[in-house]
Amino acid sequence: MTGLVIVGHGTRSAAGVEQFAALVERVRGRGDVGDVEGGFIELSRPPLTDAVGALVARGHLALVALPLVLTAAGHGKGDIPAAMAREQERHPGLSYRYGRPLGPHPLLHEALEQRIDTALVGADRAGTWVALIGRGSTDPDANAEVAKVARLLWEGRGYAGVEPGFISLAQPSVPAVLERLRRLGARRIVVAPYFLFAGVLPDRIVAQSAEFAAAHPDLDVRVAEVIGDCDALADLVLQRYAEALGGDIRMNCDTCAYRVLMPGFADKVGRPQRPHDHPDDPVGHHHHHGHDHHHHHGHEHGSVAVVGGGPGPDDLITVRGKALLDAADVVVVDRLAPQGLLAGLRPDVLVVDAAKVPRGPSMAQEAINAALVAHARAGRRVVRLKGGDPYVFGRGHEEVQACAAAGVPVTVVPGVSSALAAPALAGVPVTHRGVAHDVTVVSGHLPPGHPDSLVDWAALARARGTVVLLMAVDTIAKIATVLIEHGRAPETPVLAVQDAGLPDQRSVPARLDEIGAVAAREGVCPPAVFVLGPVVALATTGPTG
Ligand code: SAH
Repeated sequence: MTGLVIVGHGTRSAAGVEQFAALVERVRGRGDVGDVEGGFIELSRPPLTDAVGALVARGHLALVALPLVLTAAGHGKGDIPAAMAREQERHPGLSYRYGRPLGPHPLLHEALEQRIDTALVGADRAGTWVALIGRGSTDPDANAEVAKVARLLWEGRGYAGVEPGFISLAQPSVPAVLERLRRLGARRIVVAPYFLFAGVLPDRIVAQSAEFAAAHPDLDVRVAEVIGDCDALADLVLQRYAEALGGDIRMNCDTCAYRVLMPGFADKVGRPQRPHDHPDDPVGHHHHHGHDHHHHHGHEHGSVAVVGGGPGPDDLITVRGKALLDAADVVVVDRLAPQGLLAGLRPDVLVVDAAKVPRGPSMAQEAINAALVAHARAGRRVVRLKGGDPYVFGRGHEEVQACAAAGVPVTVVPGVSSALAAPALAGVPVTHRGVAHDVTVVSGHLPPGHPDSLVDWAALARARGTVVLLMAVDTIAKIATVLIEHGRAPETPVLAVQDAGLPDQRSVPARLDEIGAVAAREGVCPPAVFVLGPVVALATTGPTG
């Protein structure tokens, strides 16, 4: 199940941090989400990077990141996505769906109503005015949302009226909104902080309300509690999690100052966002110098991912492999890797053809290994894109070993191997109940009898199941002869599958004692696999019959 990281802004208030932690615990306790962590982008512990790191360490490379904010303002729109982008640099392959802000939502309005009722202790609503106090933002859209919530809280709940105000950055201020209510004739006012948790700003709301009340002894001014850790909030978090999983991340972008030129806010339109610095963050100080975080990477971020690209078509790569490819600075690509994927790379990505890596005095593989290490050491995210699975006759592990030996962070992303995919794409199941209970994948690169061969051809001949031969176009005649010599039936069906998954895919069938001659006559050429055994007789019509 997709992990959830709940992202808070952070506060200097210990009570606020405790409430955040309690909510994370409450969401975890629900059991609706497989794995939950919470972290802060500033000020408080644990930092977001620890929360994401813990989830990644438990195997979650796909996350929902939920900004624990009431309104979409700078934190939700910019700071938290920027912090997550940095996490993606730290964890190659990490992807996440971003949840939308919590409010406005009926669950929040009900919670606010309850907090106001608690403050009223039985006093009637009809004689009560409410001052709903938001955080306040330089983003007019966020302030407008507080005004909207004030109106929604007023509708149908029987208060004399609800007016919005702000504790910072926007007008009216707390004293200003209280003065406005006084002039409207209010005798009793509940100041309701539109805040999730305790913090410096809610404390300031209490102080300013007390000050106003002291100056106006004829008024009854009470302050309600913040929303706080509660079931309703956990319900809402889980709802936003489910929405994010479903790809539902509605935001009111039509009035977003980062997207639309609003009078007086020209400084915001199109402005790139940078992550804030967390004091516990190991690389936080690298981002003070005004460079564009998304296109330059400090040298400590270099890494190599050895990615299996699948048998050839663009869409048989894994989701993880594609995500790494999309984030790569350098792609070192094999001839048999899916070439179509290269067209989708950003224009600034360096594509290196592994067949053309400059050799110098060393062997080709050593030159490739050296190139991987060199690019990673230069701070680049390197994807080594290979055909099929990197560990099936792909020399992938030699590359991994070379990176590890050089101290370069390296990961492997398995791929769909042509050994299993080519038969399937040609309509042949490599196993089938009651027909074949084993499948052996064999390299035909070295013919039987070759001094370096590690294959026990006689044992293969005695086995009854499926054999899949790779790299065997030149050796198939000799292999077939040896298999028959050691006991495989001459009439065993064989299918050659060439260019599996690609537009030119074709299949050539023959009996084992005829496959060498038929393949030569039909001009079967690499890349092709040969699949042999009783399952071949079950073939349904593949893409090319
Ligand atoms: N790592 C790769 C195999 C590399 S060896 C994998 O897991 O698929 C190269 C051999 O793979 C080729 O000689 C051929 O036998 C097989 N092969 C790769 N792509 C193929 C394709 N699209 N169709 C048929 N065979 C393929």
